[in-house]
Amino acid sequence: MSEGRLYLMAGPAVAFIVACVFLFVWLHHRERRYVPFFAVAFCAYAIAALSQLLRIPPGVGLNTMVSALIYTFGIFCLVQGVMARFGKAGSALALAVVSVLILGLLYYFMYVDRNLVARIYVQNFGYGLMFLFAAVQIFGASGRRTVDRILFWVFLLFGLHFFVRTMLTMSISPDLFVLDRLSQEGADPDALARMFSHSPFWQVLNFSLLVSGLLVALALLGAIAVDAMDDLKRQGGMDPLTGLANRRGFDDRARELMADAARHPLSLVYCDIDRFKAINDTFGHATGDLVLATVGGLIARLAAPWDVAARRGGEEFVMLLAGTDLHGACGFAERMRTDLRGTAFSMLPAGFVVTASFGVAERRRGEDLADLLHRADELVYAAKRAGRDCILTDAVGALVSPVGQGAA
Ligand code: GH3
Ligand code: MG
Ligand code: MG
Repeated sequence: MSEGRLYLMAGPAVAFIVACVFLFVWLHHRERRYVPFFAVAFCAYAIAALSQLLRIPPGVGLNTMVSALIYTFGIFCLVQGVMARFGKAGSALALAVVSVLILGLLYYFMYVDRNLVARIYVQNFGYGLMFLFAAVQIFGASGRRTVDRILFWVFLLFGLHFFVRTMLTMSISPDLFVLDRLSQEGADPDALARMFSHSPFWQVLNFSLLVSGLLVALALLGAIAVDAMDDLKRQGGMDPLTGLANRRGFDDRARELMADAARHPLSLVYCDIDRFKAINDTFGHATGDLVLATVGGLIARLAAPWDVAARRGGEEFVMLLAGTDLHGACGFAERMRTDLRGTAFSMLPAGFVVTASFGVAERRRGEDLADLLHRADELVYAAKRAGRDCILTDAVGALVSPVGQGAA
């Protein structure tokens, strides 16, 4: 292999290393389903570039078609992986259509109307379009996160680079038009392929793909790292038993909600399961856990996505309801109280009724989270003293429901 071609091996070598990194990341953390797409994409790029550089399979026509098939498959995987990360995997069909179109046109300009320049435009503009398609999709899906914006810009610029680079390098590579004419005049295809690999077009192409491909890989690895950190943060604020937030998660999200004036009024429902210690003592801690998990599921069904629901400790649950006044919150607590009464727990004896006591408070102007929690907690205590299985508020005419139906 000549010196000129040896340095061109840097591209596939780097792509192969990047593919291994993605594979390693995926093996380490298999839930991130979009990562193997990236591993396959970079591996495909490495194989396609090698197939072109080493002329395997031999013969210009076959080599062009085989390498184009692998390149196109790699780019399809890369774009599809990014779509999957943004929950837009449904766009596979559109991408597949573009891929088939690219390959069809390449076949036409190779075997029907042999035209090197047309093939270059088809392949580069086609891939550029696929990346721009990804950028548009990311733009439609992205939230306010910096990492999403970076990915959008990387895909947009990478897509545009296929158009700009191709037009610039074609203008400084007049020899390509000569090659084209020689090929139409029936010159030896292998000799022409050797000339092509020395053209500025081919050199700039490989260099720019090496640099921009590395940038794309770094952006994708950065996105994976940010996603992993977000997951850790979310898990740190979650109660694994009930799937609700824990104390820390509740405090963080509740403060965010309190700072958002558009979500007011806010009301807090504080719930404490009645005589839970007796359930633990009689049926075992594992059964107690199952009761807690069931109550968590019940709350998750009742609460709206914008509410903040948490197990704040032991058998105490709190729900901060957005856009809900005291009246609405009492309605919520009453639904929860009756649903809980009506829940049959498979691990408890038939007819065993689990009840809870509730304190409901609407947030007063300027009241902080600790004061609101304290007020609702006091109301729960009062509800226990009032006989349990009931709801109390500190508004005028306090006892809401139900009178004289304690579980004691
Ligand atoms: P009350 O009606 O007055 O609320 O009585 P209670 O028995 O529900 O209240 P108490 O505070 O005396 O008991 C709460 C029990 O909850 C004590 C503790 O062992 C149990 N507990 C706390 N966390 C967990 C947990 O994660 N799993 C289980 N199974 N039990 C827990
Ligand atoms: Mg308690
Ligand atoms: Mg209790």
